[in-house]
Amino acid sequence: MTIISDFHNHISYTSAQAMVESARQRGLRIFGISEHISQTLEGRPVLAHMPQEGVILPMEEYRQQVLYAGQAEHFDVRLGLEVDFYPGKNEEIQAALRDYAWDFLIGSIHDVDALHFDRMEGDIGREQGEALWLRYFELLREAVNSGFFQVVSHPVRMRTTNPYLPPTFDEELERLAAEAAHCNVALELNGFDVLTYPDAVQRLIRACALQGTAISCGSDAHYPAEVAQAHAKFESILREANIRGIRIWKRQQPEEYAI
Ligand SMILES: [Zn+2]
Ligand SMILES: [Zn+2]
Repeated sequence: MTIISDFHNHISYTSAQAMVESARQRGLRIFGISEHISQTLEGRPVLAHMPQEGVILPMEEYRQQVLYAGQAEHFDVRLGLEVDFYPGKNEEIQAALRDYAWDFLIGSIHDVDALHFDRMEGDIGREQGEALWLRYFELLREAVNSGFFQVVSHPVRMRTTNPYLPPTFDEELERLAAEAAHCNVALELNGFDVLTYPDAVQRLIRACALQGTAISCGSDAHYPAEVAQAHAKFESILREANIRGIRIWKRQQPEEYAI
């Protein structure tokens, strides 16, 4: 495997150490852990609508568990957090994390104007579906431009519940990729997304290649068995797009390695 990093992983159903052990077994060399801020005691109150996944940990306990896992496993573990970008709540969300040092912060859109779209049910129809996508792209661009994050995750995640891609889908992706490149923010090649709707991800990566946008690889694993679950697919998608560099971070400073 030439992709040796994985910068989107959760621990709330398992432990940091179990995830790191799995990373080693799968041939990774650098492992980023990025629990949801809504899974921390400090972040939970402002994001109480987020579905709870496993245990909620005090922020410092989460940090210590991740740092300890790296030491115990003699593994290059990077400490991160998956942070919601949510207009109207961002100040409070950012206040919960800003007193701590992080290797990387992932920005995520999980809600479009109070609609938690992952749980959206039923057929919303083309008109509303396309409008939702356009608003989603607007929020992704705001997240990229906010200065809060090193990477913006799963930029086509809306595809889980909204199949109504707008006719301007590729233009929207290119605009997002261009703004990300301008802000030196990476966009994420996400494991769940690649395994679920590879076509939309391929279009995202094509846009990133066109705009010279940095790419982060993240499984979005919630269990040890899911670590690097889509890395072989990542590799073929990146090669097809002629992308040879992967972005990683330490103390929020970007690094890049070649594949
Ligand atoms: Zn997410
Ligand atoms: Zn995640």
